[in-house]
Amino acid sequence: MERAVLLRSLSSSSSSSALASTRLFSRSVHRLPKRHHLVPNVHRRSLLRRHLGFISPVSRPSLQLNRHFCPLSVRAVSTSTVQSSPEFLGADDDVADKLGFEKVSEEFIEECKSRAVLYKHKKTGAEIMSVSNDDENKVFGVVFRTPPKDSTGIPHILEHSVLCGSRKYPLKEPFVELLKGSLNTFLNAFTYPDRTCYPVASTNTKDFYNLVDVYLDAVFFPKCVEDIKTFQQEGWHYELNDPSEDITYKGVVFNEMKGVYSQPDSILGRASQQALFPDNTYGVDSGGDPQVIPKLTFEEFKEFHRKYYHPSNARIWFYGDDDPNERLRILSEYLDMFEANSAPDESRVGSQKLFSEPVRIVEKYPAAEGGDLKKKHMVCLNWLLSETPLDLETELALGFLDHLMMGTPASPLRKILLESGLGDAIVGGGVEDELLQPQFSIGLKGVSEDNIQKVEELIMTTLKELAEEGFNSDAVEASMNTIEFSLRENNTGSFPRGLALMLRSIGKWIYDMDPFQPLKYQEPLKALKARIAEEGSKAVFAPLIEKFILSNPHRVTIEMQPDPEKASRDEAAEKENLEKVKASMTEEDLAELARATHELKLKQETPDPPEALKCVPTLSLEDIPKKPIHIPTEVGDINGTKVLQHDLFTNDVLYAEVVFNMSSLKQELLPLSMRDATVSISKSCYWPQPPKPWAIIAYYLKSPPKGIQKSQVTQACLACDLELAWAIVSSSYSHTSSQSLLEMGTKDMDFVQLNQLIGRKTGGISVYPFTSSVRGKEDPCSRIIVRGKAMSERAEDLFNLVNCVIQDVQLMDQKRFKQFVSQSKARMENRLRGSGHGIAAARMDAKLNVAGWVSEKMGGVSYLEFLQALEKKVDDDWPEISSSLEEIRKTLISKNDCLINLTADGKNLQNAEKYVSKFLDMLPNNSPVGSTAWSARLPRTNEALVIPTQVNYVGKAANLFETGYQLKGSAYVISKYLNNSWLWDRCASVFSFLSYRDPNLLKTLDVYDGTSNFLRELEMDDDALTKAIIGTIGDVDSYQLPDAKGYSSLMRYLLGVTEEERQIRREEILSTRLSDFKEFADFVEAVKDKGVVVAVASPDDVDAANNTRPNFFEVKKAL
Ligand SMILES: [Zn+2]
Repeated sequence: MERAVLLRSLSSSSSSSALASTRLFSRSVHRLPKRHHLVPNVHRRSLLRRHLGFISPVSRPSLQLNRHFCPLSVRAVSTSTVQSSPEFLGADDDVADKLGFEKVSEEFIEECKSRAVLYKHKKTGAEIMSVSNDDENKVFGVVFRTPPKDSTGIPHILEHSVLCGSRKYPLKEPFVELLKGSLNTFLNAFTYPDRTCYPVASTNTKDFYNLVDVYLDAVFFPKCVEDIKTFQQEGWHYELNDPSEDITYKGVVFNEMKGVYSQPDSILGRASQQALFPDNTYGVDSGGDPQVIPKLTFEEFKEFHRKYYHPSNARIWFYGDDDPNERLRILSEYLDMFEANSAPDESRVGSQKLFSEPVRIVEKYPAAEGGDLKKKHMVCLNWLLSETPLDLETELALGFLDHLMMGTPASPLRKILLESGLGDAIVGGGVEDELLQPQFSIGLKGVSEDNIQKVEELIMTTLKELAEEGFNSDAVEASMNTIEFSLRENNTGSFPRGLALMLRSIGKWIYDMDPFQPLKYQEPLKALKARIAEEGSKAVFAPLIEKFILSNPHRVTIEMQPDPEKASRDEAAEKENLEKVKASMTEEDLAELARATHELKLKQETPDPPEALKCVPTLSLEDIPKKPIHIPTEVGDINGTKVLQHDLFTNDVLYAEVVFNMSSLKQELLPLSMRDATVSISKSCYWPQPPKPWAIIAYYLKSPPKGIQKSQVTQACLACDLELAWAIVSSSYSHTSSQSLLEMGTKDMDFVQLNQLIGRKTGGISVYPFTSSVRGKEDPCSRIIVRGKAMSERAEDLFNLVNCVIQDVQLMDQKRFKQFVSQSKARMENRLRGSGHGIAAARMDAKLNVAGWVSEKMGGVSYLEFLQALEKKVDDDWPEISSSLEEIRKTLISKNDCLINLTADGKNLQNAEKYVSKFLDMLPNNSPVGSTAWSARLPRTNEALVIPTQVNYVGKAANLFETGYQLKGSAYVISKYLNNSWLWDRCASVFSFLSYRDPNLLKTLDVYDGTSNFLRELEMDDDALTKAIIGTIGDVDSYQLPDAKGYSSLMRYLLGVTEEERQIRREEILSTRLSDFKEFADFVEAVKDKGVVVAVASPDDVDAANNTRPNFFEVKKAL
């Protein structure tokens, strides 16, 4: 039984409209993409942004803001949540010297209240940043410069492969073992266009050093360089099960990149980057082009590792409250084993010379047949801003400019493009400064062929006007406040602050620049502010637009045309290639290949021997706290309304949630209520300006690598109970789809003014629906949540603005509304392609329970269908829609059944009370809310949602509680053990399997069906069981910043989860036995026998499946 191959999840439907793509996990049948490859492309950010929703209830527009704020690590910087003395010591100089390190420089960095010391390892030249402070969430990372020369994907394949066993840890996947049995708060690896990062984080010191040791051993002494099978498995190989069959390509990265290469946005991004940088390493794809990957040889692969994965080419980061001497001691053990090499010279990234003439490129992308292909063009303008890296002040100013032009829905470039009606959604990430040379890109998708030219002209004229007219002072003030707020708050969610800092620092350090500089933003920010005050914003920004964009000849225009035949042409070409390969082989060759195929499979299926598993260092149960993490919560009452208060240190930021009951809404209004979030406005987002690393996180959430679920969960929710985590993740999802909404004006202000006001006074306001099943109850919990945050002294402004958003916003603007609909539709279509597992999960939930049905209506395929119809209806019958929107608002916004949740320290909570009271007085007091019954589900048929794709997403699910199952804590441990990636909604009790970018379809279902037998026959020693328990606790106790704690507590309150219950669940987790696994098998059997199947898959695979099992799938064409 291929345990490793099983992909499963306990999924839930506590989602709101959301789609669960979040909850997935995947493991395609042969193994899953695990770590993440950062697509080397200019548009990466824009991709990312979309997914920030995972992390936080951010509205889309906000996403826009987040990026680049500045070159300075504005957001990355940590102000610790705990007040502390500013002095932290570096390692003892004598100790450092004795261990072979030379201190290069040392600084106290006020912005992150840290002592940072840069060391050089004398023998090899390895560089180390050792950052000490009081942050318990310790971070380690090792980064190599790995610029590729071709698109064979060497860096990406290597990134996957080194985590497949090493000298001290000779098992198949130590990475997976660590995910299973450690308390890590972060564990992953990323491939960039020119570097590869291996970061880990933990709050437990013993656990942290365990992780560090496994990672160091993995990168310096991996088994993959001696064993071609790892290369074949992770990279590519020919697969031939029987000499009479066709040869196919297989490989984890090969398969992963096929998925990436079938997404229009990523094709556009790659085309842009490659055209901007034809002459240096960015002109090729570090992730690997599926057509080129099979050219890679094992020899080249080994050589790449030998040369670049070497201390001389390494930059190493330590951060947190652990002992700085110990860090150097651990490192010296590894580094001393090497002599210096020449890698630093060879890995240096050369710069791209600027063009003297603009370039235009037309490319095709695979599109579905049917639909109006004429309206599916994309166009994007890209500039390479400079031949050399920019100075810090210019970078900061460019980041600021980017925010002014595109950061919020009210920003002029963004607004004008979207309102032009020329396209559905923005593409291009604005200013991008993560690589050696900065770029700027902007464009539209969903453009009709005849409008391409118009889009280009509109972009150019808008930029010219901005250069000539400058920005209005409210907009400049709003941007400034947004930046400063986010600096002060420094909210990285559950993404470790130390890792956010590392990624900032490495952005310069990797190019041999000063690693300290990106951590220090105060001075340059002050200088920029002073310049704006003195000379006016126009004098600061107009010359930048002129110099870097308007008169810069290094411009690349990319036009992408939909091509319904491209996918099948590519497939045919691949097939032909493989036929040629087969024709060139002798009978002996073929027999040998079949034998090798068999051998590789056997290797993959053979579990590691217990001795090997034992070598992975783990904690013991004694290291685990017996009590769940406590969140201070006081339930009180203001003017008759329930108010929850959480007294936590927040650095003077006040976090507030206002919750309205949605369950009285008429069923037919549900999808529209997504729009209704229209009632809200967000200046930007709840997290107005997440640090760049968010982008990374968000990106990999999108294509969840193995283990990602955990981070996802942690991200969003941090540490609540798992099922809550799920609920929260889902709700942010829904938010993503509800996003833009917040963009209507009020009676007195247009939406631009309203947005600016929110930007000037607060840290952001957002609105989103939340739906979850409640255990033991038939009716789901359905709420609309308005979230806002501000500096505490602005509490009054915050509540006034929330009130304005929910009560005064006009829902009459037909044109704006139509834009939202078109944009949401575009986003849903994208999600269907890139996160089909989420769509499949939502669809299954909708067949199994009411909450799932509601969520699917508000964020699944049904929602897409609704949007398609709505788009037409806006033109045909606007008055009806408009009155429905009003009806939704009237039903929802009421003091009755309203709930307020506040997080701040005691003094600031007290200060907020009078404003809450005033706010409540202003709410209408509608008649008591009666619930409307939404008793609906989708039919329980097996369904295939057909989309143009080369990879599938396959799901199977059942409702375990229908079989009489009673929730026990052990269920978490079992699921964790099964896949190490799962979520469980004890309320809705849907247990589901999901695969991600899966080359198979029916075969995957067979694997799922084998699970109950697997559990019955399972043998497991105490070590393995302990590991599973600890890993589960790691999920339950994930790291949370204060706002997330307050939010988790609110979710528990809404779902009726008590402290007693959490304690019981924890005890059950800690006392899980093997017998629990066996008992669980009977319930999982229900999935095999009664489960419903939903696949998001290619037309050919669905046809083939229905030929093999006639009428197995009901087919629905989804795109
Ligand atoms: Zn990958």
